[in-house]
Amino acid sequence: MAYLASLNATKEIIEQYRFVFQKKYGQNFLIDANVVENIVGAAGITSDDFVLEIGPGIGTMTQYLCERAGKVLAVEIDRMLIPVLEHTLSEYDNVEIMQQDILKTDIATMIQQKSNGKPVKVVANLPYYITTPILMKLFESGAPVESITIMVQKEVAERMQTGPGSKDYGALSLAVQYYAQAKVAFTVSASCFIPRPNVDSAVIRLTKHQTPAVEVKDEKMMFQIIRASFNQRRKTLVNGLKNAPALPFSKERIVAAVRAVGKSETVRGEALTLQEFAALTNELLKK
Ligand code: SAM
Repeated sequence: MAYLASLNATKEIIEQYRFVFQKKYGQNFLIDANVVENIVGAAGITSDDFVLEIGPGIGTMTQYLCERAGKVLAVEIDRMLIPVLEHTLSEYDNVEIMQQDILKTDIATMIQQKSNGKPVKVVANLPYYITTPILMKLFESGAPVESITIMVQKEVAERMQTGPGSKDYGALSLAVQYYAQAKVAFTVSASCFIPRPNVDSAVIRLTKHQTPAVEVKDEKMMFQIIRASFNQRRKTLVNGLKNAPALPFSKERIVAAVRAVGKSETVRGEALTLQEFAALTNELLKK
């Protein structure tokens, strides 16, 4: 089977299977071999690795992954793509194709069963609207994920790396920084896909920390506090937390905690670093 990472090879397969692109699945297939090679390079795949590819499409990147990795598990939601993948990946004996919605999958159990608990490297070119839920799921699942190398919208890559003071700073930045070291590998032009998306993209590698970046008494509570702070971006941190139905703290308690971490009563949530959110959470949880 020839490589699929070109416009002609992709068109040929699409026509052969009379495949119709599904907008609801965010299907934009890569047609540039350099980009595919660079993604696999950024992921640092070796023959020892167990790779989970989410959304393999017609198998364009999967071909390269199969050649570099020990084993590849490719999880694709679209039933129509399964016979295509069985054909395009037929010469590789180290790949397993699963038809499944990754958002409805118990990722920790799946990885445990398939990799025998060996840490996995996740590689994906995902629909952009599910980037955040999938990342949160991968981080929070407790699955042994070593790194995640994904194509994201260029602005989202920036959001993941940024800190206080930027308009892009938000709950996603803090979640990514809590769990991983983020590094943008390269940007990708819209012309490298078929159909062409409306935005430019970037490949980002998230290397999971051995232990989270900060120590916090209750991780779930910290993220509730973070979300409440950014839900009402224009409000002060104190008002944002006081108005959040999920949070049990009185205004006096919040004011005291904000002061105890060295911030003024009028500070906005967007001015706090991850370390400061952790300190604030620990302060609020003090008996
Ligand atoms: N990896 C291929 C490539 O680079 O050419 C396809 C990328 S395309 C942007 C996204 C792929 O993810 C599509 O094949 C789509 O059907 C699949 N997908 C979308 N939602 C999914 C989900 N919830 N679970 C698994 N796969 C999904």
